[in-house]
Amino acid sequence: MPLSKPALDKYTPTIGIECHVQLKTKTKLFSAVSNDAREAAPNSLISHIDTGMPGALPVLNEAALELACRAAFALNTEPQKFSKFDRKHYFYPDLPKGYQITQYEDPIIKGGFVEYPLDGQPKRVNITRVHMEEDAGKNSHPDGADYSLVDLNRAGTPLLEIVGEPDMHSAAEAKAYARELYLIMKYADVSEVDLYHGNMRFDVNISLSVQSGKLGKRTEIKNLNSFRSVENAVNYEILRQAELYEKGQPVEQETRGWDEAKQKTTPQRGKEEAQDYRYMPEPDIPPIVLDDEYIENIRKDMPRLPVDIRQILNKSSIAANVIEDILDNDAVCNKVLEAIDSGADSINSARIAYDSLEKPATLNINVSEHIKIAEALKIKTLSSTTASLVLESLAENPAQDVAALIAAQAQVSDEGEIEKIVRQVLDDNPKAVQDLKNGEMKAIGFLTGQVMAKSQGKANPQVAQAAIKRLLGL
Ligand code: MN
Repeated sequence: MPLSKPALDKYTPTIGIECHVQLKTKTKLFSAVSNDAREAAPNSLISHIDTGMPGALPVLNEAALELACRAAFALNTEPQKFSKFDRKHYFYPDLPKGYQITQYEDPIIKGGFVEYPLDGQPKRVNITRVHMEEDAGKNSHPDGADYSLVDLNRAGTPLLEIVGEPDMHSAAEAKAYARELYLIMKYADVSEVDLYHGNMRFDVNISLSVQSGKLGKRTEIKNLNSFRSVENAVNYEILRQAELYEKGQPVEQETRGWDEAKQKTTPQRGKEEAQDYRYMPEPDIPPIVLDDEYIENIRKDMPRLPVDIRQILNKSSIAANVIEDILDNDAVCNKVLEAIDSGADSINSARIAYDSLEKPATLNINVSEHIKIAEALKIKTLSSTTASLVLESLAENPAQDVAALIAAQAQVSDEGEIEKIVRQVLDDNPKAVQDLKNGEMKAIGFLTGQVMAKSQGKANPQVAQAAIKRLLGL
């Protein structure tokens, strides 16, 4: 039986997230093998280092180190000047060395924080630490077979593990934080953030406390790969734990998996199986020592991050919810920022944002030309109808001359030219003219509409209406 809202309200959830992010390097963390296993045949992207052959010597990929340092700035802190790698021992078929190379005592990042908006309110999650580590391979278990398969393409893939403090208290916060990490890693150019291919995996810790404030036992849901599954898994786990407490039963400290099809968590392993990883310093890789110049060079190359972009777009009078839509689409975002950088005012940049979101084909149009169209609309040379025609035409064939397209669709304000059309319309519509002379003012709307239609939408309606009145002596 589902819990009533008051029963659920007795419990305060506390949530922490650990996130593995794949770094966008060309090669693996310790070998010169391609890091892009998406299209590759199993075990085709491996070397003696990834397969853990005896005597193989890992060499740190400097590009991975640089991306980790960018991540430090993106998380509002600096990389550690001293960090080092350690071996974490465990036995599993997808890890032929018998240990994972990771950072234990001295990670590349300590501290930092993530700030993100939720329903217009700023929220913050503090970062405990971030370390670099290699990914393991992948086991698969073919249906009905009495064997398992191991693919080591992923072995040695460079990862960052971002460990956050348990600073969240709802599923909505957990989802928004996961999305913010995604945006940060994308805009900081640290990761391809391809969620479908597992570039970001979230492990979520959840416990409930009752009024006493004492935290209950926590469970960990492993390997969530979408914001939606983070939200759903947290909601499910809050209910499951609350129901146990309501029945007077204990919550076990354990690791659980998320069943996407059934939308529920299932037990994987309990605390009693907690492992001793026998950490030891990695003897084959020297410690990483960074000097001020190295750190400064990375700092000054940092691109604009979501927090900066929100501020810039906000100054351009773009609504908060539209800003989030723009951030979700980096092609749109880059175009709008380019427009603002090249001097587009707030009306024109908001217009370009609107066009790019509503009509993806207009991303073809280069920024300076798009600004010209937005400007023509603003000063009413184009109506929204004729502006759409220009946009569609230019999107289809970007080689056209934008000034000529605007001129062809430009609103006609020339009184002589409009008067010619008005005379024609008055001749063709004697009844409406009589109605108007009899004081039926709505007839002027009809006649103006006829002028607009005859001019294919280009006549300036104010000028047209004034001409109708003048010619009829009203
Ligand atoms: Mn890890």
